[in-house]
Amino acid sequence: MAIPFIDLKAQYRRIEEQIRSNMEAVLEHGAYIMGPEIKSLEKTLGTYIGSQFAVGCSSGSDALLMALMALDIGPGDAVFTSPFTFFATAEEIAFLGATPVFVDIDPRTYTMDPARLEQAIGALKAKDTSLYPLPKGYETLTPRAVIPVDLFGQAADYDRIESLCNEHGLKIIEDGAQAFGATYKDRVKKTCGFGEIGCTSFFPAKPLGCYGDGGMCFTDDAKLYEKLVSIRVHGMGSDRYDNIRIGINGRMDSLQAAILQAKFILFPEEIGLRTTVAARYTALLAEHVVTPYVPEGYTSVWAQYSVLARDSNHREALQAHLREAGIPTAIYYPIPLHLQTAFTGLGYTKGTMPVSERVGERVFSLPMHPYLEKDVQEKIAACIKEI
Ligand SMILES: *Cc1c(COP(=O)(O)O)cnc(C)c1O
Repeated sequence: MAIPFIDLKAQYRRIEEQIRSNMEAVLEHGAYIMGPEIKSLEKTLGTYIGSQFAVGCSSGSDALLMALMALDIGPGDAVFTSPFTFFATAEEIAFLGATPVFVDIDPRTYTMDPARLEQAIGALKAKDTSLYPLPKGYETLTPRAVIPVDLFGQAADYDRIESLCNEHGLKIIEDGAQAFGATYKDRVKKTCGFGEIGCTSFFPAKPLGCYGDGGMCFTDDAKLYEKLVSIRVHGMGSDRYDNIRIGINGRMDSLQAAILQAKFILFPEEIGLRTTVAARYTALLAEHVVTPYVPEGYTSVWAQYSVLARDSNHREALQAHLREAGIPTAIYYPIPLHLQTAFTGLGYTKGTMPVSERVGERVFSLPMHPYLEKDVQEKIAACIKEI
């Protein structure tokens, strides 16, 4: 039997009845888009994260876009973010005409390195690229915001990032697409509740996923909440025929919200199961590859279980050997964003983000889901030990 990278069917079998009855309710009332399920999901998930307001939307990418729009980010603005993330994080910045300024990652957590953020802010303010690599056109950019990315299931280092942002008057948009429900130090709020606006994705493969596209923004700011609600539906005002700003079609499907309500029942238990699976991997693999590092006081929701091979040849050999044994692997992310073709205009060259580049050559992810069995993990580990 083929081993799936993510087993969504095992989960479906556990909650099939609830999913079907929730979907049936939508089919009966017929409000297929932005139906009553959206508000109720916003309430459930907002409470879970610990944020006062939540705005369901069409995807994680649109959640980021809406957050940037709510903060009036546009041409001439610099937004600092990680080059070691999914393309959408920086894409939405560029989509609005603003400029992504990449900040290299910490070599152990793979999230934005606060020390480098400080250097990048300093370089941009001093207009001095000898202090930190900057994108083309940096001379005219105004530093506005930071998008830290909670990679592979765990938070970026918000204490240090927030203190820098406070010092320099920058807003924070949290890209929590991979870490919905993770915890950071002694904070009561969970990830996706940090910064001015936190964003997440319900893409099926995320820790909490629906059966299509979906996303959500979280905030404690009533003004930003109102703006997000307006932007979500074409910049609507209180009069539905008067659009008061430029927005997007960011609406959420009722069916997806209904599915998420059913899946959320299992979610806390599934985080526990993922944690067990991750701990088993680490015990089996720690002597053979570099296993994930979760700093003291953090918890991960294990969106991915990513390890480092010795180098790209070792990675290639490991992936090939696993593939022969019917074990799928994936690489997140082989090409850091500063070297993506779409961003060549920013003028970044190889060597400007050395940690992301090195990790990109060595990293790969193993099958990870709450229902991964011990004997399958042992088989995977045995394969890895053979190389
Ligand atoms: C998945 C993901 C997104 C985008 O979410 P979609 O729902 O696929 O649009 C953004 N950022 C990160 C880090 C992601 O992993």
